[in-house]
Amino acid sequence: MSVGMKSVTDRLRDSGLLRTQGLIGGKWIDAYDGKTLEVHNPATGEVIANVSCMGGKETKDAISSAFDAFNSWSKLTAAERSKGLRKWYDLLMAHKEELGQLITLEQGKPLKEAVGEVDYGAKFIEFYAEEAKRVYGEIIPATLPDRRLFVLKQPVGVAGAITPWNFPLAMITRKVGPALACGCTVVVKPSEFTPLTALAAAELALQAGIPPGVVNVVMGNAPDIGDALLTSPQVRKITFTGSTAVGKKLMAGAAGTVKKVSLELGGNAPCIVFDDADLNVAVNGALAAKFRNSGQTCVCANRVLVQEGIYEKFADAFSKAVKNLKVGDGFGEGVVQGPLINKAALEKVETFVEDAVSKGAKVLLGGRRHSLGMTFYEPTVLSNVKSEMLVSREEVFGPVAPLLCFKTEEEAIHMANDTNAGLAAYIFTNNLQRTWRVSEALEYGLVGVNEGLISTEVAPFGGVKQSGLGREGSKYGMDEFLEKEGACSTAFELYFEDGLE
Ligand code: ADP
Repeated sequence: MSVGMKSVTDRLRDSGLLRTQGLIGGKWIDAYDGKTLEVHNPATGEVIANVSCMGGKETKDAISSAFDAFNSWSKLTAAERSKGLRKWYDLLMAHKEELGQLITLEQGKPLKEAVGEVDYGAKFIEFYAEEAKRVYGEIIPATLPDRRLFVLKQPVGVAGAITPWNFPLAMITRKVGPALACGCTVVVKPSEFTPLTALAAAELALQAGIPPGVVNVVMGNAPDIGDALLTSPQVRKITFTGSTAVGKKLMAGAAGTVKKVSLELGGNAPCIVFDDADLNVAVNGALAAKFRNSGQTCVCANRVLVQEGIYEKFADAFSKAVKNLKVGDGFGEGVVQGPLINKAALEKVETFVEDAVSKGAKVLLGGRRHSLGMTFYEPTVLSNVKSEMLVSREEVFGPVAPLLCFKTEEEAIHMANDTNAGLAAYIFTNNLQRTWRVSEALEYGLVGVNEGLISTEVAPFGGVKQSGLGREGSKYGMDEFLEKEGACSTAFELYFEDGLE
């Protein structure tokens, strides 16, 4: 183990945040058969820790704990639940540096970006601590004079939350925050690549006084854990962020017990630069939209569509800006591009670039593995990219920006919408009418206008078409964990006036 990594892990261990067991009913537990799995630092390949490798049996017990805890947690007042969440938020913020280091260690993103994720992720807990108090029902004008109709919002029950590796903290908090605020309890299954941040966050939830069994964490054999969650009638909700393929499996699996499902799946984000855009704004916006987390987010710009009048100027300025991005270990000074998560991710990027080049794309910058080795890939800009190339059709999930040229607004909208995905889109223009026209014509759940960073806990995040179902963040994120219960009652005064009793 390198000296740098040893000192980081030692400090994390001293702070009690380097947890390696699953959390079931408030207890840290090994896999029942003692199995473990290795968690690696993608920048060095070193093993950071061995964590419990759990499966169906442990998941069933985690579900039982969550089910028992639901009885009491859902009956607390909203103010009581809010206090627990607020305390959890305070602890996440108090341990911002350690959590950031943990994210960089297991996920690879630069430390500054990792600490930024802690800020962003923790805000979901803060926001939902506040929102917990605003689960209003409704009174409906009755259809008979002596009746009163009202709508009560009730927590759905136990939720299974399955999360990916690209935001080891934020993908969890944006699910667990609203779930707990509504009165649900959760079984979280983080990615096997990045379970350590999830376990540290769960430790802080316990320290915040969130009762045992309200938050459970299991990791290990994903299909077995998934099956246990899907088949259990006690689990009433599946909330998932990850690949479209796995999302479809989960949706089909949830049908067996008719669970509520929310899915945040892959995107194929277009980033459209019109002739009338401010060049600097477009370059900086596209840079942020494409290269954060080394291109490994589902809202990362996947295709940069540039109008012919500004194409050459943009390609030149953008390539210059990309050239300045420093690649390296996320703990390194000034590094803004970390490694890719694993070899499969690296090979996917290579395949996509080879496919594009073989079909006539030009490499303006990069286009190969980085000399640092491991899973580092050079920040890459491709020009002369066409719609039929893999880089245009599917998510590359890496630091590759393909530039496509278009002539008219109609053509840009057609190219942008010509995909099954519909998560994020970006447009750069100084024309106000065009802003509205194009934003509304884009079949996407999120549209950034002259802006490359669009995620915030206060606005709804989610996709249309095959990018998913449901929304996370904002007041709408609460709806995913609530049932609307209609109730009809006989109104008391009229009841007495009728002289029935
Ligand atoms: P990514 O490509 O982002 O890793 P995945 O969809 O493979 O996307 O993984 C997202 C999450 O889904 C991870 O926690 C992973 O372990 C989990 N997962 C993968 N396959 C299954 C499955 N069959 N059932 C339940 N969870 C799964």
